[in-house]
Amino acid sequence: MKKRAQIVIIGGGVVGASVAFHLAERGVRDVLILERETEQGRGSTGAATGGVRAQFETDINIRMSLYSIDFLKNWEHNCEYDPKGYLFFATTEGQFDYLRRNVEKQRSLGVRDVSVVDTGEIAKIVPGMNCEDITGGTFGAHDGFINPLAVMRGFAEGALCGGVSMEFGVEVIGLNVENGRITSVETSRGTVECDVAVICTGARAAEIASTADIELPVSPQRRQIVWSRTREPLPEHLPMVIDIGSGFHFRPARDFRGAMKNPVATAPGSDGREVLFAYPDPDETTSIRTDFEDSFIFKVYERAKLRADFLFESEVVRERCRAGLYENSPDHHAILGACEVGGLYTANGFSGHGVMHSPATGRALAEIILDGEASFLDVSCLSLSRFARGELLHETAFI
Ligand SMILES: Cc1cc2nc3c(=O)[nH]c(=O)nc-3n(C[C@H](O)[C@H](O)[C@H](O)COP(=O)(O)OP(=O)(O)OC[C@H]3O[C@@H](n4cnc5c(N)ncnc54)[C@H](O)[C@@H]3O)c2cc1C
Repeated sequence: MKKRAQIVIIGGGVVGASVAFHLAERGVRDVLILERETEQGRGSTGAATGGVRAQFETDINIRMSLYSIDFLKNWEHNCEYDPKGYLFFATTEGQFDYLRRNVEKQRSLGVRDVSVVDTGEIAKIVPGMNCEDITGGTFGAHDGFINPLAVMRGFAEGALCGGVSMEFGVEVIGLNVENGRITSVETSRGTVECDVAVICTGARAAEIASTADIELPVSPQRRQIVWSRTREPLPEHLPMVIDIGSGFHFRPARDFRGAMKNPVATAPGSDGREVLFAYPDPDETTSIRTDFEDSFIFKVYERAKLRADFLFESEVVRERCRAGLYENSPDHHAILGACEVGGLYTANGFSGHGVMHSPATGRALAEIILDGEASFLDVSCLSLSRFARGELLHETAFI
């Protein structure tokens, strides 16, 4: 293993891979990704379901999405972008007003094909859904799905072709700082000297940052997803459907992990009868648990019962139910850029949006590291220092 690299990226998930890709695009080759697992995709990226949307509340999330969706749509690498749409619905007038205001903002920032929809239109978009209590909603036609593992692989392959190196089975256990600057990272296979280190360790970012006395407010939280098989085929163009009040959501299922192992095999869900559903369980506390609990199935079905017979009558595919870690920040926005230690950068805290925002994140980090700031998009509001300044962002449309 190399004992020195100009830039060390800690963590080889979709975010670390994107940072490396964008550095390589700028011609920086002396970059080393250190990944503690024996292969990529064992962190949150491998658990992600692959939703991508521009329907957010804050300017920065909308702009990160606009850039990233455009990138994913036009990328020469096939990341299986499938614009099936995102439907948010409201069950109170207050929620509906909130969604309408968001659409106005999204349009003003350049989001195309996002519209306010009434209950009749919602019933047509999702035949069979109980719409009695629905006051209205919004539909983003360019929102949809991507394959998180394909995005990660695309970035990794591009980075490796550009001269970046990646080492597996190497755990970073500490950061060495001298005179306020990073000098090296301590790993399970010895010390690696560097001028720059980027923390891309997802839900476990706070642990690593603390070894350089940096308080990074990222907390891991389990997120469980139920996978079921419906009696009849799902509506052909079923989008992601989200209750903005409870966060309960459902969408057609696709098994990226199985498909990655055997890309020729027909991906489960391709007969149009498999569905994923979940909601942000308020009983979940900060933890690194990634086991799936059967009791969650009961909780989800209680909500499904109120929403659609086709969901409630579906049969759980227990072996495909999954859990992974969200990497939450206090204001549910990413924490990007420099910190008080010279040469140390963070790309964390995506709070469930790290795959969809990985293109913008990678480019932002490359520009911040090489030029001092991101010029394609002002991401300064996402800096770690916002917490000390009390300048937290506010986003309600997280699920
Ligand atoms: C159930 C679920 C559904 C989700 N759905 C979506 C979605 O629809 N859309 C979306 O955009 N996002 C979604 N997310 C969020 C998304 O998965 C994350 O935001 C994203 O994967 C974060 O990527 P990452 O590279 O930062 O983290 P990770 O993928 O976790 O990668 C971090 C890497 O760092 C490595 N690592 C950790 N510690 C060390 C160490 N000390 N030394 C070396 N390596 C280390 C890990 O092994 C891992 O490979 C979902 C998450 C979950 C759990």
